[in-house]
Amino acid sequence: MVLEKDLKNVSKDFPILKQEVNGKPLVYLDNGASSQKPQVVIDAITKYYTEINANIHRGVHTLSQKATDAYEASRKKLQVHFNAKHDFEILFTKGTTDGINLVASGFTTLLSKGDEIIVSHLEHHSNIVPWQMLCERTGAVLKVIPMNNKGELLMDEYDKLLSDKTKLVAVNHVSNALGTINPIKYIIDKAHEYDAVILIDGAQATPHIKPDVQALNCDFYVCSAHKMCGPTGVGILYGKEEWLNIMPPYQGGGEMIKEVTFEETTYACLPHKFEAGTPNIAGGIVFGVAIDYMNAVGFEYIQQQEDELLAYANQELKKIQGLKLIGTAQEKVSVISFNIEGCHPYDIGTIVDKLGVAVRTGHHCTQPIMQFFDIPGTIRASFMFYNTKEDVDVLVSAVKKAKMMLL
Ligand SMILES: *Cc1c(COP(=O)(O)O)cnc(C)c1O
Repeated sequence: MVLEKDLKNVSKDFPILKQEVNGKPLVYLDNGASSQKPQVVIDAITKYYTEINANIHRGVHTLSQKATDAYEASRKKLQVHFNAKHDFEILFTKGTTDGINLVASGFTTLLSKGDEIIVSHLEHHSNIVPWQMLCERTGAVLKVIPMNNKGELLMDEYDKLLSDKTKLVAVNHVSNALGTINPIKYIIDKAHEYDAVILIDGAQATPHIKPDVQALNCDFYVCSAHKMCGPTGVGILYGKEEWLNIMPPYQGGGEMIKEVTFEETTYACLPHKFEAGTPNIAGGIVFGVAIDYMNAVGFEYIQQQEDELLAYANQELKKIQGLKLIGTAQEKVSVISFNIEGCHPYDIGTIVDKLGVAVRTGHHCTQPIMQFFDIPGTIRASFMFYNTKEDVDVLVSAVKKAKMMLL
């Protein structure tokens, strides 16, 4: 493992950060959309295709067994990381969106007309639309936990929404648009009081926090590797064994069967029942390498570093006149959304890009949040542990410059 001994220089592990963009040193603050990849992760992709590429769970030949072993070893790493009870409760998916769609599809035959699904006002579209589609298929009704103007969910309103009709609750652990950390333990326990199933969208939490799915006692937890220093096109769905047994398979095909005849097909055991077809083998294996890397950096260090960056960025950005922070929850990760009075977020984003600063502008796949604040979008700076205070300084001076040019 190539890890900078001096954690202050951990950004050196990320070769992409050494480049210039538009003639300026790159300051990458769009980690909420996708994180960068350390050299160990990049090397592991090359190593896989150079040394062990073969299809898994199929051949008796040596390479196939090597690839299968590496893939299953990665599943075990993820089991340990998330503290799942069994390795077969970790399903490889294409990512968060895929995991949520898998569960939403699985509940098609388990819900009926008049049942209720609860989401929150803070959700990413991928934790809204699959449930709306499930409602269309089943006649179930979607309910929404409201929020206050700091971007915090209102738990007393959540309590009021819950009833015997509630069959499913789906909320994010951390809001990708505002950075709010939601009180998911409370949300999970309350859902269980009504025997509702609870899914946590951990896409924006897992780059910053190490969740313990058994302690949380959630039924499902989903995330994407690409936001956690890993490759795109792979993620996991953690599901409690009992629910993975109850849910029917998602897709039919190779790998997910026990026996196929034209009269009847029986399904494979977990996790293969939900893993039809050839998966993203390299992605699955390298996801494990990314997890190793993040654990080597250490989540304690990650949180401490990011809390400092968040506090410093808040303090410095607030000094800019006309700047309004969107989302000021008490509990936040290092995601900052803001707007500048009189400027469109897109224009600010375009100008700061010219100065080497990568931020996200727009609605961040959370249009209901933008509707709540009655804004077209925000400028979002999202920090990872490899960002520095100098990055914050460059961001602040770039935003100041953009503001001067626009006003
Ligand atoms: C990024 C994100 C998603 C979607 O993840 P994909 O990797 O695009 O599937 C869903 N929810 C949240 C909170 C996110 O941040």
